[in-house]
Amino acid sequence: MATPGSSRASLPQDLRHEIQKLEEQFSTDAAKLKQITDRFISELDKGLSVEGGSIPMNPTWVMSFPDGYETGTFLALDMGGTNLRVCQITLTDQKSEFDIIQSKYRMPEELKTGESDELWEYIADCLQQFVDSHHADKSTIEKLPLGFTFSYPATQHYIDEGVLQRWTKGFDIAGVEGENVVPMLEAALERRNVPIKLVALINDTTGTLIASAYTDTSMKIGCIFGTGCNAAYMENAGSIPKLAHMNLPPDTPMAINCEWGAFDNEHAVLPMTPYDILIDKDSPRPGQQAFEKMIAGLYLGEIFRLVVLDLHNKEHMFLNQDMSAFKKPYSMDSSFLSAIEEDPFENLQETYDLFNKMGINSTNPELELIRRLAELIGTRAARLSACGVAAISKKKGYKTCHVGADGSVFNKYPHFKARGAQALREILDWPEKTNPRQEDPIEILAAEDGSGVGAALIAALTLQRVQEGNL
Ligand code: BGC
Ligand code: MG
Repeated sequence: MATPGSSRASLPQDLRHEIQKLEEQFSTDAAKLKQITDRFISELDKGLSVEGGSIPMNPTWVMSFPDGYETGTFLALDMGGTNLRVCQITLTDQKSEFDIIQSKYRMPEELKTGESDELWEYIADCLQQFVDSHHADKSTIEKLPLGFTFSYPATQHYIDEGVLQRWTKGFDIAGVEGENVVPMLEAALERRNVPIKLVALINDTTGTLIASAYTDTSMKIGCIFGTGCNAAYMENAGSIPKLAHMNLPPDTPMAINCEWGAFDNEHAVLPMTPYDILIDKDSPRPGQQAFEKMIAGLYLGEIFRLVVLDLHNKEHMFLNQDMSAFKKPYSMDSSFLSAIEEDPFENLQETYDLFNKMGINSTNPELELIRRLAELIGTRAARLSACGVAAISKKKGYKTCHVGADGSVFNKYPHFKARGAQALREILDWPEKTNPRQEDPIEILAAEDGSGVGAALIAALTLQRVQEGNL
């Protein structure tokens, strides 16, 4: 039984010193967050310039918000970092209403680092299965319009094109970077004779922005805090120098997929710890996604694993214990940290049990350090995330708005929302609330399903534009 004392004073000197060191390494005080936000704003601008910068700021050819009166039936394919999902969405005649049926498929781990063909064949199989089971009589149906949510940085000259800039989220499939992925998927579908017409390639953040705005017109930014992290917002063509050659009217709306995971790839401002540097070095794409690697769900457990292993190697904790469970990279996902943070602090029994299952017997001071470490990693992620939201809001001059957010970290990680909101307050210097139920001027709220409903809406808006001859 673990019965840790709850007071810091009970910690052995050595561990207390280690906690202090971690607190310094992982700290993000208000001044630092403001400095990061300022840099973020100038990097967003750089990304829109002809010369470009670290943040890609990809134009998406999503050129309007929905008005709620969109109708029709669409397929949506969501290729995220963890799952594959196929949906059929019907936008009904009722304003802002929809029906959805969906199937989820596992994204086999081997596919993420396998061959390009295998990936597209697997995805086409899933789509075929879905269409077969929901549209038994293939001969009578017209081709179903598909919105493909492909949540990786992609260059688009058209909405139904996506040249993969680089894999993120641990994917590493040869022969796809630098290529347009749409013909790859289409070829696999044609081989199976699946009656599907790809209408739009979509980023999950853009989908989130559009789906959220479908039901709440104050939604101005769409964010994902999940396996990866990123945001999209609506820009004016006139503020996008790299699109000047298109001669679009300056007030033409254009959704920008920021790909902000790449913020600070040049390592100028983020408070990176030695553990962050190690994660980057050992990742399939060193030097890329610097911001994402400190925030996103894929990495939170890995940061934790590296710290614990380091403290063990330096003989600060778990002396003479078998640490083999901690030796495998990426073996701890963010739900492991969630569980630690959810454990009632009085006895940390759950945490004790988690470690015990891995063959590690923890003392009370060790449990206390583990808990504090999880808090530090989770808090840093939430606070850094707020810098991105603050940067877009400041750049666009949004004094009040809603931000739609989705993803496993946002939805499931304990205190992520409250910590992010607190950081926004500090960065944007809002006055203290006079009553606790008062809303913040800028609020990050749970979004509508961007990769399903958002993808369908974008497909609908695209077909409307085609019909109006407005491409
Ligand atoms: C990708 C983005 C995506 C984000 C969230 C990042 O790794 O580059 O395109 O929006 O993850 O899924
Ligand atoms: Mg409708």
